[in-house]
Amino acid sequence: VRPGPSSIIIFGASGDLTFRKLIPSIFALFKKELLPKQFYLLGVARTKYTDEEYRNEIKRWLLNENEALNSVLSFIERIFYISGNYDDDSLYKLLQEKLNSLDKMFETQQNHIFYLATPPSVYLEIIRRLGQFELTKENSGGYSRVIIEKPFGSNLETAIELDKELHKYLKESQVYRIDHYLGKETVQNIMMLRFANIVFEPIWNYKYIDNVQITVAETLGIEHRAGYFEQAGLLRDMFQNHMIQLLTLVAMEPPASLEDSSVRDEKTKLLKSIRMYDTYEIDKYFVRGQYVRGTVNGKEVPGYREERNVNPNSYVETFVAGKFLIDNWRWSGVPFYLRAGKRLKKKISEIAIIFKEVPHSIFFKNNVELEQNVLILNIQPDEGFSLKIQAKQPGSKLCLNTLTMDFKYNEFFNFKGPDAYERLLLDAMVGDQTLFVRSDAMELAWKLLTPILNKWEQDKEKGLLFYEAGSWGPKEANELIARDGREWRDLEAEGEIEDG
Ligand code: NAP
Repeated sequence: VRPGPSSIIIFGASGDLTFRKLIPSIFALFKKELLPKQFYLLGVARTKYTDEEYRNEIKRWLLNENEALNSVLSFIERIFYISGNYDDDSLYKLLQEKLNSLDKMFETQQNHIFYLATPPSVYLEIIRRLGQFELTKENSGGYSRVIIEKPFGSNLETAIELDKELHKYLKESQVYRIDHYLGKETVQNIMMLRFANIVFEPIWNYKYIDNVQITVAETLGIEHRAGYFEQAGLLRDMFQNHMIQLLTLVAMEPPASLEDSSVRDEKTKLLKSIRMYDTYEIDKYFVRGQYVRGTVNGKEVPGYREERNVNPNSYVETFVAGKFLIDNWRWSGVPFYLRAGKRLKKKISEIAIIFKEVPHSIFFKNNVELEQNVLILNIQPDEGFSLKIQAKQPGSKLCLNTLTMDFKYNEFFNFKGPDAYERLLLDAMVGDQTLFVRSDAMELAWKLLTPILNKWEQDKEKGLLFYEAGSWGPKEANELIARDGREWRDLEAEGEIEDG
């Protein structure tokens, strides 16, 4: 659906996210003719650029990405830029004037999407000023929406504080908390797979599922984001948003409809059923680690504490594994094992639904176990899914082997799906909040994780384990799952990809 007239105003327009993700995604929409005909983009940041200079930066970036000069030239005609300090009234006065003139020039009917792509420390400042300058008001016919990047707060308290302040100027229907994982094709496909097919849902419960494993493994370290990561750590960076969201999509009940409120209601209900652990249980169910020097993809890489701008005594975690339990009828007794980390052996993200063993095997005697069926939702590198089942190996003897039925998006549909940001920006323009995180869900995720963060803060040194870069994390992560008589899925043999 091509959205109606719209504009996107990016705060932090000189930054990494803007250049690497937002501009290429908006340009992709432009090429596919999915941007409204009445559209402009206004960049805002402290760095001084004229419109022309900013356009040239964007042109250079896109041409570097091998985009065609003609399209780039017609795209940048719609791009403008203003600079100033985020806490300075004169910036917002200038913004008001600029929006007035651009709205007239592009007939965008005062429809504004403000994208906060600055460090989180300035979110509040920007929102307050937007509110004070009446740019968050919707009473003149146009809409005003605010997209907020993660992290949303740094614990339950700060997230509530930010949310409270936000709601002084904005209704929840104007707030779009972005979690780009929710824009990925496979992640959206979880709902299709579960609720558009009859075969999965009857067995999607404690009777047939033994455990669920969600892995998000990266080979990259922290790159140039030491400042951010030293404040955040992996639990905040990956679990509070992506990992919990994935768990929620796998485990929630079928929504009444695809309407955003129905889907988000089910997510909230599920989040309320995730068991909160007592402080003394946290060490039993969670493992945190930090990488030390090692070899990734044949290249020697420094340890976390040796990275540029990282405190050489840092206790920040770069790996987390945890066991979550969901106290409801569907999932009673089914553990959800989640792990994510940096500088691991391989870049791979997947959700594995591991089914129970057959109740009685007629095929083998002498206690030989049949391999369990596994449904794998591949998020990276090859978006798609696979089903592992047992089948007869051809031959005169009765021999079983595990057969993998594979579906890969790009092979089957012969086209690469859109980047997650494309989809989410489009949704924001049409006013669909389904794939954005609602206030209550955000709060519940923090409620779940804040006691863990507090405990780790207390025991900073104690309990932080070290793992070699290029491994699968500390061995204690294996022990966490081995205590339940299980093991992590072996991901060595799964698809390979370069980091991007
Ligand atoms: P960034 O490059 O560090 O910052 C974006 C822009 O904000 C900078 O170009 C800078 O522009 C301005 N800025 C930087 N520090 C500032 C400060 N202390 N006070 C005021 N303005 C400051 O950040 P980013 O990587 O683009 O990320 C933007 C937001 O998206 C962050 O909240 C981040 O957590 C989130 N995010 C980023 C990524 C990613 O891949 N980069 C992924 C997910 C989420 P001026 O100096 O010109 O004002």
